Amino acid sequence: MQNETFDVKMLRTSCERCAACCTGGGPILRLADAHLVRTGAIESKDLYTVRKGELMFDRDTLKMVPVRTDLIKIKVNREDLTCVFLKEGKTCDIYDTRPSECRAFKCWDPKEIEMKYDEDPLERADLLGDVKGLWDVIADHQERCSYDRMQELTDKLKDDRTGEVLAAINEIIAFDLSLRDTLVEKAGVKPDMLPFLLGRPFTETMVMFNLKIVEKNGTFVLDHV
Ligand code: SF4
Ligand code: SF4
Repeated sequence: MQNETFDVKMLRTSCERCAACCTGGGPILRLADAHLVRTGAIESKDLYTVRKGELMFDRDTLKMVPVRTDLIKIKVNREDLTCVFLKEGKTCDIYDTRPSECRAFKCWDPKEIEMKYDEDPLERADLLGDVKGLWDVIADHQERCSYDRMQELTDKLKDDRTGEVLAAINEIIAFDLSLRDTLVEKAGVKPDMLPFLLGRPFTETMVMFNLKIVEKNGTFVLDHV
């Protein structure tokens, strides 16, 4: 079956809009896509940030590796990982203003997309770095909730005899959640903007450290491992 698929692709010379490339994870935005977000052609509610240090599948090593910078991706539908812009009938809702990765992807010829992978990614700082106040909040969150720090703590967890490491992890998780609540309740930020502004919450991403977060007495804490 795989060979058949490969042969069909080899015979193609143009896009048949089958949408197979719109499944399995949304595209990463590149610097060249900044105008799409700035003009609202792609709204930030449809984006999420993979924060520096988060683990992501690396196509070269075929391993999960920490990302070196923020990456901004288009959200996907949880059930099937299709891009949120993929609509009934396999059409792209933003086809004329789709990101540059989507334009570069040609399943019959990988040259263009491989060059695109080498381009600088768009980062939150490129879009929000001069928004005083908001950027300070994001930078503070990034420092206090850094994935490097979380990795360091989770590495120490198995030797944690005093409970201090677990307490430090729980403090980070609690800060991450409370900041999200504060932004929504006090600053009027829409909840669907949070994955772009602050990345995904640890309650979703701790699984990448093979750990899970459970709710106890109304608060989320890391379960003992
Ligand atoms: S580029 Fe994508 S949409 Fe076009 S034919 Fe290939 S897999 Fe289908
Ligand atoms: S933005 Fe459009 S072309 Fe790009 S992955 Fe999503 S649905 Fe496909």
